[in-house]
Amino acid sequence: MSNKKRGTFVLYSGSSGVGKGTIMAELLKRDPSIRLSVSNTTRSPREGEIDGVHYNFVTKEQFKKLIDEDGYLEYAQYCDNYYGTPKKQVEDLLNEGYNVFLEIEVQGALQIMAKYPDVLSIFILPTSIESLNRRLHRRGTESEETINERLAQAQRELTYKDRYKYNVVNDDLDAAVNEVLDILHKEASNNLNLS
Ligand code: 5GP
Repeated sequence: MSNKKRGTFVLYSGSSGVGKGTIMAELLKRDPSIRLSVSNTTRSPREGEIDGVHYNFVTKEQFKKLIDEDGYLEYAQYCDNYYGTPKKQVEDLLNEGYNVFLEIEVQGALQIMAKYPDVLSIFILPTSIESLNRRLHRRGTESEETINERLAQAQRELTYKDRYKYNVVNDDLDAAVNEVLDILHKEASNNLNLS
């Protein structure tokens, strides 16, 4: 057994286009104790996304095989694709002492909250739905139809924000990053047992 203190497990959600990926990239740069869990997904890679870094890109058959093996901490279907968190990877990182962030949508987060009510959870909020609309268009990675679908999904997801322990508004990037780091350090003693 390792004598390292077990890391903190963090559920991290926010509507598509809210800038949670940008906040996450800053968190990873500023705090070496933070690791992002790499999910399995059946969606196709976007330009610049690397297999094994941003996601493990898998087929529906591969995804379903791990469901049958009880290998997911949670999984969900989101806009026609499956997304899931491989259990073993998260456990290993927590045991190594890393603070592990799970960047997942609301359905998956609710599954984890139901299983582990004490889990540390953070929801990143947009300043407005209009600001999300602008960001999704600026990102330019999705078709108009997909953008509309994601905006509708974002509005539905916003209704769950109060289920999260903390809400952080992404108005100013630096302020939002500092707020998440403050929450993490304040809750560092929250070392949840996932088994
Ligand atoms: P995207 O296609 O934009 O990368 O992700 C779509 C949504 O799926 C985002 O809200 C993202 O946080 C979520 N997501 C990514 N990985 C997982 C996962 O492992 N499980 C669940 N439930 N959601 C995920």
